[in-house]
Amino acid sequence: MNHTKLRQDFPILDQIVNDEPLIYLDNAATTQKPIPVLQAMDDYYHHNNANVHRGVHTLAERATTQYENARETTRRFINARETAEVLFTRGATTSLNWVAQSMGELVVHEGDEIVISYMEHHANIVPWQQLAKKKKATLKYIALTAEGELNLDDAKAQITEKTAIVALTHVSNVLGVINPIQELTAYAHQKGAVMVVDGAQATPHMPVDVQALDCDFYAFSGHKMCGPTGIGVLYGKRHWLEQMEPIEFGGEMINFVHLQDSTWSELPWKFEAGTPNMAGAIGLAAAIDYLENIGLSAIHDYEAELVAYVLPKLAAIDGVTIYGPTDPAKHTGVIAFNLDDVHPHDVATAMDMQGIAVRAGHHCAQPLLKYLDVSATARASFYFYNTKAEADAFIEAVYATKEFFQHGTI
Ligand code: PMP
Repeated sequence: MNHTKLRQDFPILDQIVNDEPLIYLDNAATTQKPIPVLQAMDDYYHHNNANVHRGVHTLAERATTQYENARETTRRFINARETAEVLFTRGATTSLNWVAQSMGELVVHEGDEIVISYMEHHANIVPWQQLAKKKKATLKYIALTAEGELNLDDAKAQITEKTAIVALTHVSNVLGVINPIQELTAYAHQKGAVMVVDGAQATPHMPVDVQALDCDFYAFSGHKMCGPTGIGVLYGKRHWLEQMEPIEFGGEMINFVHLQDSTWSELPWKFEAGTPNMAGAIGLAAAIDYLENIGLSAIHDYEAELVAYVLPKLAAIDGVTIYGPTDPAKHTGVIAFNLDDVHPHDVATAMDMQGIAVRAGHHCAQPLLKYLDVSATARASFYFYNTKAEADAFIEAVYATKEFFQHGTI
């Protein structure tokens, strides 16, 4: 990975914050956008902007072609069988809500069980709570091991013939662990359950093949993988999407509208009511091209190297607690930690004074933090554009922060 060259693609990273060079370690929240992504969207608005699907004029055709090409790029990226299985949404949250509402209507009945885990993001908890309440179903949680991995024995105990849906995150946005989705999907299917995967923290960092995973649904967001905000994806297997009712109704998603009733368009447009986010989809496709150009395996390997470098250094600081495995081989670039006797918000503020962007709070995972018996943590999350020098600066800043709160100087 040639960082000197690569970082020229991210002008935002080259700036001074609080008199220090910016070190952006909040990539689990959102990632920065390389010039080719900005250019693709700019180019679209400069030259090709028109509403899609309905027009016969040249610009409408160009916009439609670009939008549908973006869908094909996305299909190839996750290795879906066909573009009919790739729905554009606003982001992972919307994708998961669509599945919970529409698929929930189809397969969840009174007395059924929905199984999630303690490490889920709120986006993969709250929609299932709402569904469980509506259907008088039970929401169950898979326990974690002491190291913060999914407890697979408990997963097998929780997923039973009563389970209608299993919904799990591929990669945790707090603990940094990768879950064995392929194995869990096979187990869920064996019990007759539908498998939904929250891939928001996976697609930016490693190759994902939905056919190999065999999950029924896979959700992710563009903005966490160098793409723009406001665009995301819901992959679903055709036979489910065909049976499901759309969640939103209006233009674009219909075939015929009669006075009292309407018929739906074919997949994938049946789910995409209203004018879609064309520029967003085009930006996402440019982000996919950008990541694929570097190589998702290369990104994964580089981040693994970075974690192997920084995690032991962080763990070695007296008074630091790391949440999730301390074995770097089991850890992605998301590192949640606390410093004894210092509130994580104070840690994040002190780091910001040193030019380093980290997040503090509950990371939209309140049940997990309660499970870990902690009210908040600091979180540094690395991406492929972060360097070892930045990792060193991060470690130094944690030492300096500790020193500051002990003796009042940075
Ligand atoms: N799931 C996980 C694991 C996440 O980290 C996030 C974003 N923090 C989401 C879902 C929700 O993504 P978005 O806010 O882009 O819809």
